[in-house]
Amino acid sequence: MRKVFERNGRAVEALCGIDLEVRSGEFVAITGPSGSGKSTLLYLLGALDRPSSGDIHLLGDTTGQMRDIDLASIRSRVVGFVFQFHFLMMELSAIENVMVPALVAGKSPSEVTRRARELLERVGLADRVDHRPAQLSGGEQQRVAIARALINQPALLLGDEPTGNLDTATGEAIYQLLREHNREHGQTIVVVTHNPVLAQHADRVVNVVDGRIATGSDLAEEIR
Ligand code: ADP
Ligand code: MG
Repeated sequence: MRKVFERNGRAVEALCGIDLEVRSGEFVAITGPSGSGKSTLLYLLGALDRPSSGDIHLLGDTTGQMRDIDLASIRSRVVGFVFQFHFLMMELSAIENVMVPALVAGKSPSEVTRRARELLERVGLADRVDHRPAQLSGGEQQRVAIARALINQPALLLGDEPTGNLDTATGEAIYQLLREHNREHGQTIVVVTHNPVLAQHADRVVNVVDGRIATGSDLAEEIR
């Protein structure tokens, strides 16, 4: 699978021949230098974008040639994202932020409220449900973002340096939370991180250098 961007009329090859298989229930960390293609790879895995050539198999679907509307449908059904900057809605409370994706998906408000509260408890924010993001610490905001990513019970949880702007202890706590969630729910998790210590929480570390996978053996670009 390859991904080429065009910038100022020039082709930038972000990924040049990636062959990666992530198994269902696996927790994979993606590491590598800045600009090596980690985010591009993650966005392709999560159907945020299409490869320039090659295919990506995401559960039962192949996203290589898909139309935008079908990619969006897969994303909403299968994928949860956590970014470095959480993009919480500042005017909404923690619980309202967590509820948004489930309400957008058309689930019943009472059920969504119950589940959002449960998730916030799960990430240790039981006493912060009515706080707005500005009233929460950076780590708490990121935990709200994780609860939001989990509300639709995505089979695949993707994180792009989700603890990149947090202190070491908070980053560690968030990885432990992801690890527990992965063990308890068999959720597939792929997380990009610069931090080799945090990467050790994963079952496997995939190192991306210059748009290629530098280490890791059993690779094919499928998520089953
Ligand atoms: P990383 O996340 O490892 O820092 P990225 O995946 O963001 O790396 O980027 C890989 C390469 O692709 C970089 O050279 C980057 O400049 C380029 N790139 C990423 N996204 C785009 C885009 N939308 N348009 C043009 N070039 C891009
Ligand atoms: Mg990146």
